[in-house]
Amino acid sequence: MSIKPPTYELDHPEIRESVSRLCEDFPGEYWRKCDREQAYPGEFVKALTESGFLGALIPESHGGSGLPLSAGAAILEEIHRSGSNAGACHAQMYTMGTLLRHGSEAQKEKYLPAIARGELRLQAFGVTEPTSGTDTTALRTTANRVDDHYVVNGQKIWTSRAEYSDLMILLCRTTPKDQGQKKTDGLSVLLVDMREASDDSLTIRPIRTMMNHATTEIFFDDMKVPAENLIGDEGRGFRYILSGMNAERILIAAECIGDAKWFIQKATAYAAERSVFGRPIGQNQGIQFPIARAYAQMRSAELVLREAIRLYDTGENPGEEANLAKMLCAEASWAAAEMCVQTHGGFGFAEEYDVERKFREARLYQVAPISTNLILSYLGEHVLGLPRSY
Ligand SMILES: Cc1cc2nc3c(=O)[nH]c(=O)nc-3n(C[C@H](O)[C@H](O)[C@H](O)COP(=O)(O)OP(=O)(O)OC[C@H]3O[C@@H](n4cnc5c(N)ncnc54)[C@H](O)[C@@H]3O)c2cc1C
Repeated sequence: MSIKPPTYELDHPEIRESVSRLCEDFPGEYWRKCDREQAYPGEFVKALTESGFLGALIPESHGGSGLPLSAGAAILEEIHRSGSNAGACHAQMYTMGTLLRHGSEAQKEKYLPAIARGELRLQAFGVTEPTSGTDTTALRTTANRVDDHYVVNGQKIWTSRAEYSDLMILLCRTTPKDQGQKKTDGLSVLLVDMREASDDSLTIRPIRTMMNHATTEIFFDDMKVPAENLIGDEGRGFRYILSGMNAERILIAAECIGDAKWFIQKATAYAAERSVFGRPIGQNQGIQFPIARAYAQMRSAELVLREAIRLYDTGENPGEEANLAKMLCAEASWAAAEMCVQTHGGFGFAEEYDVERKFREARLYQVAPISTNLILSYLGEHVLGLPRSY
């Protein structure tokens, strides 16, 4: 069954159409096979790269298409609406921003055009650690400056796509926490070329998860990184990572809206076609209303997302809207996933319908890249002015 696009008008119609056409070459069978084998969807990522979609946000001056965030959101939404999954490559769109905003001209010249051409992959983003979790400033990975390089020691967890990336944006501590003025001081961002690290200094171990996400844990044991790979100023890395969060939240929210649309369309088609007690199940309000409710939830979340994108693309810093969009869109996609399984009855659990796979995939976004609780504490503290809860 092909998934129809929505009937209302959306931005970037040509981009959406070409992404959707590209995704037709990667039907359910393809994703099911990757999922079963927990295999990286390399052919899909290659097709997206060759079509220039992964370089959409890189400025033209650095070899990309120089499109606004709205275009990146449209690309990711369409991938998910078509039943595909951008988790294998979406990070390149937002991690690239750290390099673009805070890297030196020499760094940008060295890496961005090669990323845009698809010769270099910047897919890995090493922030989370097993002990610090959400409390990023408590991270323990250190980078000590020795002559013309840094020596990195420590561990990261949930570093997705590290096995399929050449470069990694790595957040680590360059000044001990008790020596900084604020706990957010003393963290730095290194651009690590993982191809240059020796096998005994960089160990990447895959973590099997409930969905196919190519995520890993990484161990650094005296790994050398040239000092010239420091992004921006030493000690200001936390701010650099934070400055990319709005874009990340908006792009992930767009994926969630794509998922929600897929679930709604899939459920609608099934409810119209499946006949029980001599009539389509979609004629029963017990089936029809949950689909309508999921649609209402998706549309309202989508409108908040559009507002976040609009503000971002006009140069605002829409912290509130980006957080609202991420939370509401993730909740809308999860509600639609639940509804879709229920609409399909037993077939919601059958692999060949793709519903159970998308259901597992949709669950992630209330935990990563930021959990719903942390969004609520952002709203409580920064929007409502309540005391900080942690
Ligand atoms: C598949 C997958 C891919 C990922 N990819 C990446 C990646 O590429 N790079 C990367 O750096 N990270 C990645 N992550 C990590 C992800 O960002 C974290 O899992 C997420 O931020 C939550 O951190 P945690 O798992 O350590 O949970 P914890 O910090 O241990 O929190 C556990 C629970 O407690 C809640 N909690 C914690 N503190 C508070 C508080 N003060 N108030 C209220 N609730 C609280 C959290 O919201 C969460 O629900 C990935 C995770 C997954 C599962």
